[in-house]
Amino acid sequence: VLARMAERPWNRYPDFESIALRTAIANAYGLTAENILVGNGSNELLAAAIGAFVGPGTPVVFARPTFALYEKLVTIAGGLAVPIDFDPDSGLLPLEDMLSAIRKYDNAVAIVCSPNNPTGGVLPAGGLVALLDNGAMVLLDEAYGDFAQSGVPALLDRLVTFRTFSKAWGLAALRVGWLASTAENCREIRKVKLPYSLNVISEAIAEVALEHPGIRDRNVAYILSERERLFAAMQRVPRIRVFPTQANFITFRSERKLFDALCRRGILIREVAGGCLRVSVGTREENDAFLAALKEVA
Ligand code: PMP
Repeated sequence: VLARMAERPWNRYPDFESIALRTAIANAYGLTAENILVGNGSNELLAAAIGAFVGPGTPVVFARPTFALYEKLVTIAGGLAVPIDFDPDSGLLPLEDMLSAIRKYDNAVAIVCSPNNPTGGVLPAGGLVALLDNGAMVLLDEAYGDFAQSGVPALLDRLVTFRTFSKAWGLAALRVGWLASTAENCREIRKVKLPYSLNVISEAIAEVALEHPGIRDRNVAYILSERERLFAAMQRVPRIRVFPTQANFITFRSERKLFDALCRRGILIREVAGGCLRVSVGTREENDAFLAALKEVA
């Protein structure tokens, strides 16, 4: 990275098209650069895509709870938020109810976070095709997809898939996200996206990272093995209910208010809707510290 940065003229703007990074991402997935856009975190691309496809009154169907940014962006765009409660028993996204909601409209957009933040569940098998077949434009946020072995993003007319360097790559501070879609959708989203939003340092680091996919794969393997260990241990803790997860976090419900009690023991996790808490899978030592505290307070 340092060698690449030394070669760059820092007084010049970055490449307008971010062609080097888009090509590197495209090559990694067997796609072409015209199918890829990069942004300052996938957040920026979600904002651009919602800006491109959601207008005043556009119905936007999404699971509840989900990543809070979607509803905020939909509201800013003047869209009609249509939240659908997730199924706590299966942990899966509420596909059937989402489909019924989509069928009520002829111009629905579905925002699907799979695995879902914060519940950890994925879209049931065949869900993506069903959403598209029922006429929805689908914005598929796979920020946590690497933990659920999602492969190459599909290129379909009404589908935009979002990925990020923030999770499995462990590079959240860089603020690099990307999306994959048809060339036409990419052209539409580019009309809304800010120019030059990615800086050359982050671009260079992401390019170098892609040359070392083993970094991501090692992170994913470590987190998956720790997730299984943590999940099994949490299932043995009385009085909490653990939701099935395919992400790098575990969400659980407790009748007691555990958040403050955990904080007092030096453990800060995330409070989510409905009396639930979400813990991110960390290092073995962090996970052990969390488990020890949880067993004390639960
Ligand atoms: N999508 C989801 C579901 C997320 O949870 C997050 C971050 N918490 C993002 C997108 C944003 O990722 P980025 O760092 O790429 O902006």
